[in-house]
Amino acid sequence: MATQITLGQLLANRLAELKQANELRPEQVSMAKRNNVRMARNQARIAREMLGSNGITLEHSPMRHMANMETVYTYEGTHDIHSLILGNDLTGIAAFK
Ligand SMILES: Cc1cc2nc3c(=O)[nH]c(=O)nc-3n(C[C@H](O)[C@H](O)[C@H](O)COP(=O)(O)OP(=O)(O)OC[C@H]3O[C@@H](n4cnc5c(N)ncnc54)[C@H](O)[C@@H]3O)c2cc1C
Repeated sequence: MATQITLGQLLANRLAELKQANELRPEQVSMAKRNNVRMARNQARIAREMLGSNGITLEHSPMRHMANMETVYTYEGTHDIHSLILGNDLTGIAAFK
């Protein structure tokens, strides 16, 4: 979990560097949003699992965090839509009209 979170932080840091250099492209934001939200969603699930059945209850924070991450996975560009944007950017071929 620590490694994945650190990798996500590095990606966010790189975006900040590009932004400061006025080199940030929307497709790079898609890459970071897509990756980091999927990562955070997976880590929230692992945190829930570590608590066993207690993790399901609202007495512990991971389940609430998981619900938040499901939201972020959908809004501000769903995971799938960011995949389409990246595919287009990497290949020059749009899988959408
Ligand atoms: C808590 C919350 C707050 C929100 N707040 C706002 C807000 O403030 N302002 C606002 O404008 N909107 C807001 N939204 C709406 C959000 O932007 C949409 O839910 C999101 O864009 C997805 O649209 P949809 O729900 O119509 O799903 P759909 O477009 O019906 O998509 C359903 C599923 O199909 C996938 N999909 C759709 N098209 C394709 C495709 N071509 N290829 C592959 N997969 C595809 C999607 O990724 C998704 O998984 C909010 C949503 C939530 C959950």
